[in-house]
Amino acid sequence: MIDLSPWLGTVPQAVVDRLSAARRVLAVGHENPDADTLGATLAICRLVERQGGTATAVFADPVPPLYAFLPGASRARTDPDPSIAYDLLVVSDCGALDRVGSVAQRHPDLFAALPRIVIDHHASNGAAGETDWIEPDSAATCEMTTLLAARLGAPIDLDDGAMAAELMAGIVMDTSTFAHPNATPRTLAVAAALVEAGAPLADISRRLYRTKPDAQLKLFGRVLDRLETAADGRIVHSSLFDEDLALTGAIPPHSEGIIDLLAQSDEAEVAILFKEAGEGTRLSVRTKPGGVDATVLTGLFGGGGHARAAGATLVLPVTEARRVVLAEAGRLVADVRRA
Ligand code: 5GP
Ligand code: MN
Repeated sequence: MIDLSPWLGTVPQAVVDRLSAARRVLAVGHENPDADTLGATLAICRLVERQGGTATAVFADPVPPLYAFLPGASRARTDPDPSIAYDLLVVSDCGALDRVGSVAQRHPDLFAALPRIVIDHHASNGAAGETDWIEPDSAATCEMTTLLAARLGAPIDLDDGAMAAELMAGIVMDTSTFAHPNATPRTLAVAAALVEAGAPLADISRRLYRTKPDAQLKLFGRVLDRLETAADGRIVHSSLFDEDLALTGAIPPHSEGIIDLLAQSDEAEVAILFKEAGEGTRLSVRTKPGGVDATVLTGLFGGGGHARAAGATLVLPVTEARRVVLAEAGRLVADVRRA
């Protein structure tokens, strides 16, 4: 049996108490949900239901097809259930509260009134309330949520292993299957407990990282072909336009993963993907260890994330966004000296 008890002291007592006392929970993740926010939010729902309560899983946007294999994916809603009088809001994997997205604007009174738990691992998260549990050293919000489940005394194989599969997906997502430096001994111990509980690790990794529709492969081809460099090759960047989706038959979630290919550049300190998003531009940034802090660059534009992976949205068209972001990235990369 994998023993998680050495790490259970990290779970704040106030979080345990507040969740244990809740009866009707609104569990919310971030807009454009990924496996980490989905896994953590779905697991919270299972934990609440295990204690006899009711829970609703909400994400401002529909679940992308890539994540439909998660056992609880079909229960995700884009709005709270109007017939339920919620008594607690649990926000998972949101580096800032506005990452919840448009659902908070559609239900401002509800989001303002409910007592709240925040569970997150983004370095840029400044939340500091008693039930705001922020651990930037955690590889994934699902790593924290697994510890919360254990701390609550729930079996890790809850619901015939469904919770373990969901939590494992979040850890695989955010560590790129334990390939990123954010994977710690604790991450591996938590993952071992999840595998022991039935999580199909190899299958999850294949689905999340090594399976793509042909339309998505074509989209990757177009965007990689457009690769450019700046600052003598220390910045690599590309851009994705709505037209690329139309011409390949791809959908917006298919852009997931392109930034991680750009980040494979041997020469570049900073990889940036500019994505057309309505009138604005979505920014994805990846940086090399010991180099530019990605949250510093995205923070200049109101975004955030982690030191090695961050994002932001600019209210500028792609060509304009490229100009201002590359200028700032050039300044930051000039300060990085390698032996
Ligand atoms: P990605 O480039 O994969 O979209 O995002 C990389 C990381 O940055 C993720 O951990 C994500 O949560 C965070 N991130 C992306 N966009 C934003 C944003 O607009 N604001 C904040 N605070 N974090 C973001
Ligand atoms: Mn995450």
